[in-house]
Amino acid sequence: MARIVVLGGAESGVGAAVLAKVKGFDVFLSDNGKIKDEYLATLQKWEIPFEQGGHTPELVLNADEVVKSPGIPATAPMVRALRDQGTHIISEIEFAARYDSAKKICVTGSNGKTTTTSLIWHLLKEAGLDAGLGGNIGKSYAMQVATEKHDYYVLEISSFQLDDAYDFRPDIAIITNITPDHLDRYDHRIENYARAKFRITRNLRPEDCFIFDSDDAITIAQLGEIVVKAKMLPFSQEKEVPQGAFLQGDKIVMRYEQDETEIFLRDLSLSGKHNIYNSMAAALAAKATGITDEQIRRSLSSFAPIEHRLEPVLSIRDVLYINDSKATNVDAAWYALECQTKPVVWIVGGKDKGNDYSILNKVVRQRVKAIVCLGVDNTKIHAAFEDIVGADNIVDTASAEDAVRAAAGLARPGDVVLLSPCCASFDLFQSYEDRGRQFKEAVRHL
Ligand code: ADP
Repeated sequence: MARIVVLGGAESGVGAAVLAKVKGFDVFLSDNGKIKDEYLATLQKWEIPFEQGGHTPELVLNADEVVKSPGIPATAPMVRALRDQGTHIISEIEFAARYDSAKKICVTGSNGKTTTTSLIWHLLKEAGLDAGLGGNIGKSYAMQVATEKHDYYVLEISSFQLDDAYDFRPDIAIITNITPDHLDRYDHRIENYARAKFRITRNLRPEDCFIFDSDDAITIAQLGEIVVKAKMLPFSQEKEVPQGAFLQGDKIVMRYEQDETEIFLRDLSLSGKHNIYNSMAAALAAKATGITDEQIRRSLSSFAPIEHRLEPVLSIRDVLYINDSKATNVDAAWYALECQTKPVVWIVGGKDKGNDYSILNKVVRQRVKAIVCLGVDNTKIHAAFEDIVGADNIVDTASAEDAVRAAAGLARPGDVVLLSPCCASFDLFQSYEDRGRQFKEAVRHL
């Protein structure tokens, strides 16, 4: 019996282990850290042997093949040792796809993955198709392949998952955009990061589709370097495209094969320039899946905003509080600020991943009246924006409650308080979800 060793005992690793078990492998899971209770319970339920708090070389190095969780870097000593001895290392999506013949719509990119993936899933479900939603969202793809059966999958895929994918092939691949984020994992080289994202296109066949942002310079540069065999479906807000989607006045025009479809912006449920891109990408994927124009229009307008992504919380004394805690990089915050139509009290800060704030100068000058820093070290934010909003209009806070109280003090009726932090949350919070929930809690207590 072939031995599969899974490295990492969280959502993706445990899903892969269950699938390996179902497929009759001799499976073992090894985690360097502590495995969460819910995952321990799953491993026990499926009678999968495992270890935690370290990797035992004899139990790992004897694998015929290793499934590595995306959180484990290629530089981890055990991964190195496996590579040195020539063991094949794959990611969970690569493993799961071997046992799945469903049609796959796969979304990767720097920003907008979750929104676009959820939107496509909503479009498929509303059209009555049987689709699983997975990848980085919710239940892992491998777990669904092991325990459910779907005709379609809509998967959010990180570049870490793609790093160890070889034969994995989506039917429809989408790259939302490519901006510098996670560069630390790619030797600080944007080409490496872009190349990792483009691995999603490597096995595409002429009948498959590739959907991409043709306004994105890094995407276009990378496309000049490689051959993608699929039907090319770009989306753009800057220029007309012969196939794909583009903006024309107050509507999206979508061209797919011989069809031309119009979708009015006022009918989109999600607001903001970035969500026009996301809606275009989702509409193209739905169209290529054979969903009717009428259904596409209806579903794009019935989609409910996702938690922590420009999520309206409450209006208090005519001040609207918006939770965009998921904006963990500068680019995401740019879009959040850009789409505001009222003066903004901006809550920003956290664990900075080497941000260059200067790209925000213009939008901050146009939209932001005051800044509430929410982080342990806020010096870079002061340095970047003090000249723009004035030193008196920047305050420091170190809890969601204080930040909300400070923002409420600075806001006047008709303003917006926007949490769009540009930074990771780990200096003060467990996660971006924790930050968003504490923010909402604090707003409700105002
Ligand atoms: P991801 O899953 O790639 O992190 P999300 O859909 O969760 O992306 O959105 C994360 C943040 O990025 C949101 O807070 C939103 O403000 C911003 N955003 C969403 N879509 C886009 C886009 N197409 N381009 C730039 N920023 C975006």
